[in-house]
Amino acid sequence: MAYVAMARKWRPKSFSDMVGQEHIAKTLQNAIEGDRLHHAFLFTGTRGVGKTTSARILARTLNCKGGDPLHPCGQCECCKDIDGGNSMDVLEIDAASNTGVENIRDVLERVQYPPVLGKYKVFIIDEVHMLSTGAFNALLKTLEEPPEHVIFIFATTEVNKVPQTILSRVQRFDFKRLTMAQIRGRLRFICEQEGINATDEALDIFAEKADGSMRDGLTYFDQAYAFTGSDMTADSVRSILGIPPVELFFSLINSIENHDLKGVFKMVDEACSRGIEFTPLLDGFGKFLRNLLYTRINAFNADDLSITEELYSKFKSAALGLSNGDLLRISKMLIDLQAQLRYSTNPRLMVETCFARMAWLDRLTDLRKALAAINDPKSAADEALKKKVAEVAANLAPQEPVEAPTEDPFANYPAASTEGYSRYEIASAWPAICASFADDGDLVFTAALAGSRLETGDIHENPFPISLTYVGETDNNTSWNYQQLQEHPEFIVRLQKILEDKLQTKISLSVKTRAYTEEERKIEAAKKMSPFDLDMEKEPGIANLQKIFAAELVYSVQLKKSAAFAGDDNDEINDN
Ligand SMILES: [Zn+2]
Repeated sequence: MAYVAMARKWRPKSFSDMVGQEHIAKTLQNAIEGDRLHHAFLFTGTRGVGKTTSARILARTLNCKGGDPLHPCGQCECCKDIDGGNSMDVLEIDAASNTGVENIRDVLERVQYPPVLGKYKVFIIDEVHMLSTGAFNALLKTLEEPPEHVIFIFATTEVNKVPQTILSRVQRFDFKRLTMAQIRGRLRFICEQEGINATDEALDIFAEKADGSMRDGLTYFDQAYAFTGSDMTADSVRSILGIPPVELFFSLINSIENHDLKGVFKMVDEACSRGIEFTPLLDGFGKFLRNLLYTRINAFNADDLSITEELYSKFKSAALGLSNGDLLRISKMLIDLQAQLRYSTNPRLMVETCFARMAWLDRLTDLRKALAAINDPKSAADEALKKKVAEVAANLAPQEPVEAPTEDPFANYPAASTEGYSRYEIASAWPAICASFADDGDLVFTAALAGSRLETGDIHENPFPISLTYVGETDNNTSWNYQQLQEHPEFIVRLQKILEDKLQTKISLSVKTRAYTEEERKIEAAKKMSPFDLDMEKEPGIANLQKIFAAELVYSVQLKKSAAFAGDDNDEINDN
């Protein structure tokens, strides 16, 4: 016996079988019963929610000879023809491949002929928004005065592209996306009918991946059924659909919590060896983080999240060493990673390094807590430690009197975009200006300028000469950054404008390359020291912090003293 796909075999045959669109079925049934039927309908909604299926059901309901006005019999000639797609009275046109005015004229020619077997001639036009303007206009004339025996059913995923003139002549029905429970329920029904043993968890995987589309849910179900046969477990379904198991994420968050880089890399390796691609891996981790946060703040219960009670309590007790703030920061890093991954030629490395940074993350929080402890030495219990903290605080304390905190501690900072510089300052301000470009999101422009320097000419000259300089081992600079600048002359124009804005004066901008001077070579060698070593040299306070808290410096940023020590209750410290 030939295998019939479940999606086709269990396609709803009457309005009572339609899942999730009961509001539409009810309205149509009332119209049929009351004999108040429109001649043109528009079914709109996302893909796979039952628009064409409903159109076919409506066609069958209207033409069935079975005698029940609401439930097509499935046995009469009309029902069978429509089922088999051979009906002379029901025409289905895919507007996506028949966009032109000639295609529509072909259709309209048939409008004048009465139905062969049934009561109505039904024209189902799928993806109607794809029709050309000419085609819409041709259609409009027929819609204005449709023959008694004609019914038009338009279906579209993009109702905003359907002209107003058409919209005003149709009865519109908005199809809803299906909930997970609705999809799961339908799959459970099919399993019962087909004698398939599927666990609840397995069906949940289909329902979740279907993302509101019954058709997609059934397609995944078919795909899995072809491999598993009558016994479907969550594990087998996941491995067929390439969905990462939740245990993988529990192990990842555990590694992040414990700064366990080895664990992080092992997890990525395991995902790769299971054949899980990075897109579903990161999507899955995103959902995992959301569930973790939801359960933690009791925003939803297990039912709301469509997970078992067992999994719910596992979420509740997971990663307690990470604060809610940490989870939000990890989520933000994940979202950034997902955006960047599309442009990456080495996705694995990107994923690994991002996860590794997540594993370092809450040491940043430790440093904040350490700063808080300095502000409030009472929080340090041990007397000796208290003394040490006081010493560190003395080292870091502002020398000038602390300004009274203003309402907004950052009110004294000029906004970056409006910050101007003098001719003397511009070269030293360059790294800060470059850093502000990174926020624009233009990665190539930002990257091309990274590492370059601004060298200024005679301060008194007009226009003010500035050269964007790329310094390397030799005069002949082969860096990627410099190459990008050669390929994008518009970058120079843009940069010139930015610098003129900053300086409020005309400049003449040139691009130069040169080799390091002896002095610069020494600086380059020093740069090879870790940022930690360099910061340690500069800041005795940080060295002390490191001793007291066994902290590791991952990232440092210079704060204005009045802001850092204004005594404000930093929310992020109390976000547990
Ligand atoms: Zn029938």
